[in-house]
Amino acid sequence: MIAFDLFHLIFGASMIELITDPTPGKISYFREILEAEGIRTFVRNENMSGTEGMIPIFHPGLCIVKHSDLGRAKQLIAQSQPSDVSDTAAEIICLACSEKNPGNFASCWNCGAELPD
Ligand SMILES: [Zn+2]
Repeated sequence: MIAFDLFHLIFGASMIELITDPTPGKISYFREILEAEGIRTFVRNENMSGTEGMIPIFHPGLCIVKHSDLGRAKQLIAQSQPSDVSDTAAEIICLACSEKNPGNFASCWNCGAELPD
C-alpha cells in the first residue's frame, strides 16, 4: 500500500488547486509565474483537454505542492490577472481572441497569438 499512500500524498491530500481554466495557455501562463518565484506546481488533468475530437470532462487545474506556498501563490496570481491591470492605456487587445493583454506582452496570454505593437 506504500505506492497508493504516496500517490494519495502527492495527488490527493496535499494537492492545493489554485485555478482551473479550460484554456491550457492560461494555466501555463500562471504556472510560469509561480515556478519563476520558486513555487513548485503541477497541472492536473493536463492531458484531458485540447485533444481534438475529445470532449474534455475536466478542465486543467494549476496546483501547488507545498501548502506553505499557498498565500504567496494566490498573491502572485492576483497580481498577474490580466484583467486586473490598472494601467488600462497600456493594454493590448488580442486580434485573435479579443482578450486584454498587458502592454509589455509580445504574445497573447490566452491564445498565444502575436500581439500588435
Ligand atoms: Zn489571444
